[in-house]
Amino acid sequence: MVTYGFDGTATLYSEPGCVVLPKTTAEVRQVAEYAAEYKIPIVTRGSGTGLSGGSVPIPGCIVLCLAQMDQVLELDPKNLTIHVESGVITQKVAELADAAGLLYPPDPGSMRISTIGGNVAENSGGLRGLKYGVTRDYVMGLEVVLANGQAICLGNKCVKDVAGYSMKDVFIGSEGTLGIITRVLLQLVPKPRAKKTLLASFSQMDAAAETVSAIIAAKIIPCTLEFLDRITIKCVEEYAHLGLPLDAEAILLMETDGYPVVVEEEAQQMAEIARNHGAMAVQLAQSAEEAVQLTTARRAAFSALARVSPTTILEDATVPRSELANMIRFIQQTAAKYDVTVGTFGHMGDGNLHPTFLTNEKNAAEMARVEKAMEEIFDQAVSLGGTITGEHGVGLAKKAYLPKAIGDASLGLMRQLKRTLDPDNILNPGKIFD
Ligand SMILES: Cc1cc2nc3c(=O)[nH]c(=O)nc-3n(C[C@H](O)[C@H](O)[C@H](O)COP(=O)(O)OP(=O)(O)OC[C@H]3O[C@@H](n4cnc5c(N)ncnc54)[C@H](O)[C@@H]3O)c2cc1C
Repeated sequence: MVTYGFDGTATLYSEPGCVVLPKTTAEVRQVAEYAAEYKIPIVTRGSGTGLSGGSVPIPGCIVLCLAQMDQVLELDPKNLTIHVESGVITQKVAELADAAGLLYPPDPGSMRISTIGGNVAENSGGLRGLKYGVTRDYVMGLEVVLANGQAICLGNKCVKDVAGYSMKDVFIGSEGTLGIITRVLLQLVPKPRAKKTLLASFSQMDAAAETVSAIIAAKIIPCTLEFLDRITIKCVEEYAHLGLPLDAEAILLMETDGYPVVVEEEAQQMAEIARNHGAMAVQLAQSAEEAVQLTTARRAAFSALARVSPTTILEDATVPRSELANMIRFIQQTAAKYDVTVGTFGHMGDGNLHPTFLTNEKNAAEMARVEKAMEEIFDQAVSLGGTITGEHGVGLAKKAYLPKAIGDASLGLMRQLKRTLDPDNILNPGKIFD
């Protein structure tokens, strides 16, 4: 019971009333019918890797963990689809697609442990978001159990379908508050034939941000365009010993994929653009092993930061690409103002930043300063035309900031939708909004 009291979010814990691990949709329906009859809250859970407290229990609730609904139902190469139960691990979908010469593009950093159901419920993104989009872009159909226990199927294998409202989209990103997703039909794409990986280091963050803008302006859409700031570079180097330049203010990881000739040309162009914008060094991987080594710098960022202090709070403030340098500077100034340590890394290509607070939840004074710094960072993201979360969702962690981010009218519409689909407030009550 204790282990189901947490997700991946720091400082949040609450013990459930019980944990149920169904194996079939029929069993999920039975639990929902029982909960509806006795008015017991249900908190649906995948692997519990969420970073906004979405699967942290409501005291006394039923935790409905779908991890054992892990059957792959069909891989259909003619229609380029894969149909899976919600508890299937994301990495498994990626591996099955790869074995069939296909690609499942969404690649959240947690893909080795997160479930597809959790990815859909959070509309998760990943390193390939800039070129390939996020989970929503690959969901063709869903089976959902509603709060009253009814199971419905939404969507199908058709590329085009405009028969009525796109109801499946209502459930994508709904964080377990509108329905229990039991099956997911996903779209796959042909696997790119080639990929090139580059790493560039910069003595100034602005130069890295300008490099990103120049690459896009040159009509190159890399599949990966990630960055690490100075604190993150230091932590990764101490953790993984990759030979990263400790005097760099920023590192950019760039990857391009597609046809071999195009990929080769784009890689050379990106290296040149980085040099023209003052890169201290540019490394172009010459083999698959070298590419893995370069990407390790980014993939290790969270683990490297997490070992520095007892409490790691990973945020995902997001701004339009043009405001990246401004936002990163603001994060650094705010960290200094409140005397807190913040390492920032993230998806520079799509403006999705991960300011990561390295703190100690037992130090009340420091936690109060962290709260203030976080609030100012979210306010700034919104005032720059951005948002409080680009991929981790609202859950419990960000619901206080939501009204300011989206306004009363949007919030009112969301409440109306919630009341229509879940009139007794059974499904994940108190998440996203009260
Ligand atoms: C190290 C690390 C790296 C991460 N990297 C990324 C990243 O790159 N991109 C990203 O977007 N996120 C990332 N995350 C966050 C997290 O992994 C994602 O949100 C993921 O999609 C959650 O999946 P899960 O199975 O763990 O869901 P859980 O954490 O169990 O649940 C998440 C939310 O979804 C709801 N839910 C879960 N399953 C269902 C279902 N079947 N039906 C209805 N609701 C459901 C829950 O109620 C909860 O609100 C990362 C997390 C960690 C710890």
